[in-house]
Amino acid sequence: MNLILLGPPGAGKGTQAKRLEETYGIKQLSTGDMLREAVASGSDLGREAKRIMDAGDLVPDSVMVRMISERVDQPDCRNGFILDGFPRTVAQAEALDQMLDEKDLAIDHVIEFQVDEDAMVARILKRAAEEGRSDDNEETLRKRLDVYRRQTAPIVPHYRAKGALKTIDGMASMDVVTGLVKGIVGAA
Ligand code: AMP
Repeated sequence: MNLILLGPPGAGKGTQAKRLEETYGIKQLSTGDMLREAVASGSDLGREAKRIMDAGDLVPDSVMVRMISERVDQPDCRNGFILDGFPRTVAQAEALDQMLDEKDLAIDHVIEFQVDEDAMVARILKRAAEEGRSDDNEETLRKRLDVYRRQTAPIVPHYRAKGALKTIDGMASMDVVTGLVKGIVGAA
């Protein structure tokens, strides 16, 4: 089973992805985590990604598509995967469609986390303080939300048109959201 979790930064996708990973034995693929690993490794990609992430912008589509394409081929994705933070642009969504076709794979559900932006800003700043994430100061956060609205939200109609989109209340408590997600995904 392959899933996409869609929603702005701080909507709780990562937490839910980890829970789904445990329940269903499918792999969380967080492009944000992959990029942070690249930053920590000090690679060329990491240095370039850090500059972009610190500014709240998006890493180029071609880089991200290649990263995900290589990742889903790994043995730990055999049972399925949860895309968390990807796709983030219409171009990424279209490239993903083509990539999955070529690999003879498909997305079973796209779950959109709907949130109240102001309440979410408070939530993200709290998480940033806890995790010490340099890409999560308030100015960058506002920028990232703006980037979400302009560049990522347009992929919602893409998945709605395919009939794959389910929308849930991302502002509910973590356990309630988990229940909503499992209700969509079905029995383990
Ligand atoms: P996240 O942890 O998903 O919020 O991602 C942190 C940052 O990594 C984002 O603000 C972007 O700069 C970058 N990033 C993560 N995923 C993607 C993606 N699919 N496309 C472009 N940039 C991304």
